[in-house]
Amino acid sequence: MITLADEIINGHRLKRTDDLTFLLKADLGQLCQGANNIRKALCGNYVDLCSIINGRAGRCSENCKFCAQSSHYQTTCSEYGFLDKDSILNDCEHVSSQGVNRYSIVTAGRTLEGEDLEKAVEAYQAMHEAYPDMILCASHGLMKSEDLKRLHNAGVTMYHANIETSQNFFPNICTTHKFEDKLMEIQLAKEAGLEICCGGILGLGESWEDRLDMAAQLAKLQVASIPLNFLIPIAGTPLEKNKPLEPAEIIRIVAIFRYLNPTAYIRIAAGRNYFDDGGEILFRSGANAALTGDMLTTVGNSTAQDRDMFAKLGFSFKEKRAD
Ligand code: SF4
Repeated sequence: MITLADEIINGHRLKRTDDLTFLLKADLGQLCQGANNIRKALCGNYVDLCSIINGRAGRCSENCKFCAQSSHYQTTCSEYGFLDKDSILNDCEHVSSQGVNRYSIVTAGRTLEGEDLEKAVEAYQAMHEAYPDMILCASHGLMKSEDLKRLHNAGVTMYHANIETSQNFFPNICTTHKFEDKLMEIQLAKEAGLEICCGGILGLGESWEDRLDMAAQLAKLQVASIPLNFLIPIAGTPLEKNKPLEPAEIIRIVAIFRYLNPTAYIRIAAGRNYFDDGGEILFRSGANAALTGDMLTTVGNSTAQDRDMFAKLGFSFKEKRAD
């Protein structure tokens, strides 16, 4: 695995048409060491931390089977309309004071339009003016091209749209929109001048082949950031009885995503709680970015804990915009 890692560092790229089964059988320690070498050589020692705010919660028309916010399922998730600008600005200030320099408003729902779109644009503009060092990201579903451009003009530089899983497995997870809708949205966001944050959820019942397909698809899309979530089954959703992934399986997934996506941010989001120490091992196995603080509908690690962990691991923090 170390030789393969060296080849990747020197420009070789794995393809889905290659026989990749060796990645599933490789000694985990060796696999992780290779992934860590790739991360160090091609991404450096920076860790990219981001935080999110749930800008509009619940009552979603879509039926993603893992999601507490879908109106198709009975869950205990909060429901509220688009937050007022001051609440968002206050949260952004708090996040900034914690040394996190990437921030996103995330909204439940198929898209964002009308009055809520106006509120979002206003909030992004206000944050961009008040916190110019904060990198602004957005996650609002299947938006129209002209609305994505409005976000970009308001200071947003990255758009988040997860493919969630492989193309083959996607219909098992959601039927109210298609995998192809996601691909189209990513294309529109790129055309609007936005970088792409795109990953998904593991532990939905997908196979290892699906995971390889997903990792290869993301490589093809050349996304800048790959958020990986590990399902925390939520009572009331169709996946409530899914068995959580074993830590060793999570570690292998993270390492494999690094082999296939050597230069992207591999961003660990929900599911770090499956590790007592906040998932240190994942950041020695190829990951170099994290969602810090609370997730949308589950509790995450505190930013102070995360900063201590990353400092101990030898990572440095991006305090300023890269540009
Ligand atoms: S993942 Fe997004 S689109 Fe799917 S049900 Fe949840 S909020 Fe709606």
